[in-house]
Amino acid sequence: MPRALPVWVRVPQRPPYFAVLSADGRRHHARISGGIMQIGFIGLGNMGGPMAANLVAAGHDVVGFDPSGAYPACVQPAPSAAKAAAGRDLVITMLPNGQILRDVAAEILPAMTKGALFIDCSTVDVASARDVADQAAGLGVVALDAPVSGGTGGAIAGTLTFMVGGADAGFAAAQAVLDVMGQRAVHCGPAGNGQAAKICNNMILGVTMIATCEAFALADKLGLDRAAMFDVVSTSSGASWSLNTYCPAPGVGPQSPADNGYRPGFSADLMLKDLGLSQQAAQTVDADTPMGAVALALYRDFVEQEDGRGQDFSAMLPRFERRSRSAG
Ligand code: NAD
Repeated sequence: MPRALPVWVRVPQRPPYFAVLSADGRRHHARISGGIMQIGFIGLGNMGGPMAANLVAAGHDVVGFDPSGAYPACVQPAPSAAKAAAGRDLVITMLPNGQILRDVAAEILPAMTKGALFIDCSTVDVASARDVADQAAGLGVVALDAPVSGGTGGAIAGTLTFMVGGADAGFAAAQAVLDVMGQRAVHCGPAGNGQAAKICNNMILGVTMIATCEAFALADKLGLDRAAMFDVVSTSSGASWSLNTYCPAPGVGPQSPADNGYRPGFSADLMLKDLGLSQQAAQTVDADTPMGAVALALYRDFVEQEDGRGQDFSAMLPRFERRSRSAG
């Protein structure tokens, strides 16, 4: 059955506004990007907290909700998610997983103003992103999935990259706030495609990080100097972001979590989550992803049975160093 998508209509004579026809055919108006916005921000953890703070610093009016009760000083706390969302031009969520997103969406979407914009920046499964977008469209709310890369450093610095799924006009409306929180936003297509881009990217990242770490551990045993290894591979066909920008070997290449005792950065726990999402998605569409499956198994062992929980995902290097081919 075709999904009920909102129909977007530009209203050029009223430039701060756009209009959307909701699934029931009624026309609603909302503010487009630019100017000061009334924003509700739900999920103010390691990522959401600094993202919300950057929106306040850019002059936006931000009300937030997080059940932990921990709020950045500049964000006005609301007593519930629904209260943080009611009457706002824009609501942003930054939550741990798809089930929590579904629960929060069920609470806030009916409370939101018709025609308002809802941007979910969490990393969740594609099906949850698409279901929430459908639910939003049915209520006259414009939804985007906009997961990020760049980690907590990018959230603090306002240099995140957003991978965005949803309608063209929603993407255009979101541009100004995405520009505050990040340095790049790529429109990847309809609802759910932002999450699809995110999990495909992170499947490559997990696989290349493991390959880089096992190659460093092999190079060590072969007596190859790490600096020489970095100099050769970073300018040869083995180069990747995992090596060139986020080198897992301490003291070699650019500054990275390896130089900080493998404190994350991007934790092995989050890599495990994202690899699980990519395998779940691959199963749904019958895609053959053997390297992604092996990467998932290795990160699961690392996080759940070894000492990987809470360490950066590049701490796979000391893990490989401790192991041997014969004894595991
Ligand atoms: P976090 O655990 O620090 O923050 C999540 C916040 O959501 C917490 O403060 C929690 O209290 C809150 N929360 C939980 N249930 C809630 C509910 N029902 N209503 C409202 N708030 C609720 O996690 P994070 O590191 O900020 O990550 C958030 C999302 O961003 C995740 O989906 C993660 O995969 C993704 N992400 C994280 C990073 C990173 O480096 N940390 C990088 C890219 C993407």
